[in-house]
Amino acid sequence: MQFKDVIVSQELKDRLLRQIHDGRISHAQLFTCQPGNDGFALAIAMAQYICCEHPTETDSCGGCPSCKQIAKLEHPDLHLYFPNCGTKDVKSKDCESMLFLNEFRSFVSSNNFHIDLTDWLNILDGANKQLTINIRDCSQIINQNSTRSYRGGYKIYVLWCADRLRHDAAPKLLKTLEEPEDKSLFILITEHPDQMLNTILSRTQSVKFPQLSEKEIEEALLKEFPDLDPETARSLAIHADHNYIKARKSYPNDDLSEQMLADFREYMQSVILYAQRQPLEKVDYAHAREVIEKIAAQSREIQKQYFQFWQELARKFLLSKADDGTIIKMTPSEQQTFELLKGAFSLKFVSQMNEALDTVIRQIARNGNTSLILTDLYFQLASFLMPKK
Ligand SMILES: [Zn+2]
Repeated sequence: MQFKDVIVSQELKDRLLRQIHDGRISHAQLFTCQPGNDGFALAIAMAQYICCEHPTETDSCGGCPSCKQIAKLEHPDLHLYFPNCGTKDVKSKDCESMLFLNEFRSFVSSNNFHIDLTDWLNILDGANKQLTINIRDCSQIINQNSTRSYRGGYKIYVLWCADRLRHDAAPKLLKTLEEPEDKSLFILITEHPDQMLNTILSRTQSVKFPQLSEKEIEEALLKEFPDLDPETARSLAIHADHNYIKARKSYPNDDLSEQMLADFREYMQSVILYAQRQPLEKVDYAHAREVIEKIAAQSREIQKQYFQFWQELARKFLLSKADDGTIIKMTPSEQQTFELLKGAFSLKFVSQMNEALDTVIRQIARNGNTSLILTDLYFQLASFLMPKK
C-alpha cells in the first residue's frame, strides 16, 4: 500500500512524511478516524514507507522485497492486531489475532484495504458476539516487543479498532506503550476514542483524520473503479455521508449483481407460475427453494444487498414499461429478465412488493430466519398476483 492509494487528505500524508523525514516518529500514535476513513490503509502505507529500501521523498517504491511483503501483510516486522472472537474452528478461550491472520489478510486484500468492522464481523460470523483485542493479544505484543526485529529496522504494531482493546487487558500494554524497545512504532486506529481508556489515550499522540469531501469520494471511486461512469460516481459520493467505504459498497460488483439478478429471475418466474395456478411441475417450487437456501447461506449484509437490489430492479421494470430505453438504462441480462417477467410488474404489484421487501430487510436485520422469511415472501408475492375472486 503506497501513500498515493490511500484516500485521505494530502495534508495528512505530508504531516506523517515530515515526521519520518525529520527522524521524530512518535512511537505511539492514535489514528482517530471518521467512519469510512482509510485509517488502516494509511497505517500500512506508513509502515511500508518506513521499511522501504528505496523510498522517494513522497512515497515508498512499491517494488522492493520489503514493500511487497508489507503490501501482502506478510512482513516479519509488521504485527497486526484486530478484534476477534471464538468461532466454530477456534474456541473462545484460545482466540487471538494471530489465529485469524490468513482470514484477515484476504479480507483486507479483497476490500483493497478499505475495511470496516461490520464486514469483518460478518466474516467471523460474530454478529452476536463480543469481538475484542484480548489479553492473549496483549501478551503477544509484549513478547514481540522484547525480541529483536527480523530486519534490523522498525518493528511496527498496527492495532485496528483499538477501542476494542478489552479494558482488563489494556493496562498490560501501558508500560510497553510508554517505554517501548528502540525502533518500535505502535499505530492504534479507532473511530471511537471516547470508548478507550484514558491511560491509553494519554500515552499516544493523536492523529486526527479530516472528513472526506464529496469531491474526494467521487475522485477516489473513479480511480478505484475505472469503468464507473462519472454520473454514478457523483451520485454515490453524494449519498455516502462522507464515508468512502459506504460509497464503494453501494457500487455492487458485477458478479454479485449478475447472481442477484439470476436468482431474482428464477424466484419470480416460479412465483408467477404459482399465482397463475399452473401445474406444480411447471411451477418447479423445488428450484425456487434452492434459490432461497442459497440466499439464506449468505452473510446478512449480502442478504440485505440482495433485497435492496430486487427493490431497485422492480422499480426499474415498472418505469421501463413506460419508457423506450432513453431514461431507464438496463444491462442486457436485465433487459432479458424484464422481457420474461414484465407482465407481472404493475404499479400495484411493485408497491406491494416494495413494502414486503422492506419488511424482509427489517426481519433479517433482527436475525430472523431467512429461509422462513423468503418462503413466506414467496406465497405473499404470489397472492398479490392472483386474480381476485
Ligand atoms: Zn520499497
